[in-house]
Amino acid sequence: MTGMFNVAMNGTVHKQILVVEDEKDIAQLLQLHLSECCEQVVCAPDGQEGLRLALEQQWDLIILDLRLPGISGLDICRHLRSTQSYVPILMLTAKSTELDRVLGLEIGADDYVTKPFSVQELVARVKAIFRRCDALALHRGQNDGSARIEHGNLALDLEKRQVLLSGQTVELTAREFDLLHHFAAHPGRVFSRAQLLDSVWGYGHEGYEHTVNSHINRLRAKIEPDPAQPSLILTVWGVGYRFGN
Ligand code: CA
Repeated sequence: MTGMFNVAMNGTVHKQILVVEDEKDIAQLLQLHLSECCEQVVCAPDGQEGLRLALEQQWDLIILDLRLPGISGLDICRHLRSTQSYVPILMLTAKSTELDRVLGLEIGADDYVTKPFSVQELVARVKAIFRRCDALALHRGQNDGSARIEHGNLALDLEKRQVLLSGQTVELTAREFDLLHHFAAHPGRVFSRAQLLDSVWGYGHEGYEHTVNSHINRLRAKIEPDPAQPSLILTVWGVGYRFGN
């Protein structure tokens, strides 16, 4: 799969990562290991600096600690999503705070890693995020930038990662878009929550089926004419969900 990466002469990929983490040891560890595979890794030691850098430059990924001095990771994530920034966000959360984890995913983080984590696991997660992004970019390239999925009055522009409902833009988080894209690319097919976690979130999310439910509820609130009587993303009782008829 590494063939999908844009590989530079020295074997690193042309990716820029921002790490917002106040614990120096963790920040240094991440910088050390991610620098082996990525072109640029910049660390910010607090929330203000993290938010400033996040907004100032284009990043391929932001790794965001939740507990930060100044502005919290959740607030940074919320702010970035409210500015319609769809940069992938990987959250670092403490083991004891499942609430943070769930909340983080719900406000638009793409993935999370629980502290203490193994560097290998974190690097694997980072590569999985890049693979998803690169696969999408490749797909766009193959479709000459005009890839589009239409279903009734709903249209997905895969190049711009934009969703239009009766011609009006619908603001989705990166994960909501990926989820809708997955459904719309397979109309009529039934997916279990575990299958959706696997396909849309990637590996390592066993046991987080409720994350799927909450994302689908938010997606329905944004795209369904009547979220209480869904007509696009349908519940298949006891199995999961399917898109369309
Ligand atoms: Ca911290």
